[in-house]
Amino acid sequence: MLLTPQQAVTESQRCLYCFDAPCTQACPVHIDIPKFISMIKSGNVIGAAKVVKSSHALANVCGKVCPEEIFCQSVCNRAKQDTPIHIRELHFFATQHEAKNGFASLREFPKNGKKAAVIGAGPSGLGCAFELSKLGYDVHVYDAKGLGGVPKNSIPAFRLSEEELGSDVDLLARHFHFHETSVDSEAFARIRQQHEATFIGVGLGLDKRLGITGEDLKGVYPVLEFLERAKENGSRSNFGSRVVIVGGGNVSLDAAATAKHLGAKEVTLVYRRSEMEMKVWKSELLEAKKLGVQMQFLAQPMQILGEERVRGIRCRRTRLSEKVDSTGRPVPVEVPNSDFVLDADAVVVAIGQQIHAEFVHFFERTKQGFIKVDEAFQTSLPGIFAGGDAIAGEGTIVQAVAQGKQAAHSMHEYLKDRN
Ligand SMILES: Cc1cc2nc3c(=O)[nH]c(=O)nc-3n(C[C@H](O)[C@H](O)[C@H](O)COP(=O)(O)OP(=O)(O)OC[C@H]3O[C@@H](n4cnc5c(N)ncnc54)[C@H](O)[C@@H]3O)c2cc1C
Repeated sequence: MLLTPQQAVTESQRCLYCFDAPCTQACPVHIDIPKFISMIKSGNVIGAAKVVKSSHALANVCGKVCPEEIFCQSVCNRAKQDTPIHIRELHFFATQHEAKNGFASLREFPKNGKKAAVIGAGPSGLGCAFELSKLGYDVHVYDAKGLGGVPKNSIPAFRLSEEELGSDVDLLARHFHFHETSVDSEAFARIRQQHEATFIGVGLGLDKRLGITGEDLKGVYPVLEFLERAKENGSRSNFGSRVVIVGGGNVSLDAAATAKHLGAKEVTLVYRRSEMEMKVWKSELLEAKKLGVQMQFLAQPMQILGEERVRGIRCRRTRLSEKVDSTGRPVPVEVPNSDFVLDADAVVVAIGQQIHAEFVHFFERTKQGFIKVDEAFQTSLPGIFAGGDAIAGEGTIVQAVAQGKQAAHSMHEYLKDRN
């Protein structure tokens, strides 16, 4: 929701301007929240936008889709009196006001004569590229799918519009060279040689498979492909009227909401644990329920049914055991003789992603397969840094931007004493 100027001023007047600003500390990019809110209160909205943007490369994007319930708002002291300040809405009010009134002209940053590369133009890559260009580097960004990563390709348009993303990305793009290309092992070796330091922000991008019969039938979609198609084709997309989504995370909720927005009559989410174990933001779950998405908890897919095209999915009931897995959640076990069938025109598999970029074989990796980095975001290869989802699995936009920024400063430190 975009606040009106009157609503924004009224909301800003509720801020307690805490001395220790827990909201700023909880924000991964440490936006000076009391400062920008006080500027909205005094009518300096452009100044407020500048405060936000000086910390956050994807300010408009996060004004719209940052999960405030897990960051700034969750620690707001005002909640002890009544309700927390609507920090994200105030942030969005300021950055949208600036976007609508034209960009504040950004000066060119003085160059330091060094070249740096960024592979992947998602939030982590863009956060890193912008910071590197502020530090004076001649920055070259490489991405197969344009600028924006998941926010551009997968976050549904009803949650984040092209214009909202564009108002950040168009501004950032003035500060680096962009190469629209997929980077393979050979290209990676070349890029490494041509630049003094390189950042890897390739995200995840490869959907995990269920590994059950019928997964290759027409009408079965890995979730990223489903969301990308839906975003590309908009209302022309046709996935049928009964859509089953398998998975219990935020991405599965996005898929469910997308199917509903595209007109599917019955959308059912199948999750092998209970609602309590879902790793989702409450606001997204509430929204899915409001849209009429049905939930089949404690159910596990066993087989996707159909000849050439999918016509249904056979599931089995589960119960939660005493045993917990590496995520700390109880392990579901199958209940014998409890199979049931859900009719479906489309099945969307949303059970997590892994790294897609093949050149990651050059790097030491974590047990889960992510790129291993030290506390300065340096990988096992000297001069190569990494951040975002590729180092720790699915996180958030603001965390990815924060890691990209921090990695840029580590790259700068690393290069300081080298010629
Ligand atoms: C459907 C969905 C919805 C989400 N919703 C939210 C939300 O509302 N709020 C939020 O805070 N977070 C959300 N997230 C999480 C957030 O989008 C990610 O944490 C964030 O995008 C990670 O940024 P990244 O830069 O690490 O990777 P990505 O955004 O994945 O970007 C990686 C980029 O690298 C490029 N790339 C990969 N391999 C290569 C290669 N070999 N050569 C060249 N380029 C390559 C890709 O094309 C891509 O552009 C969502 C995630 C998903 C999947």
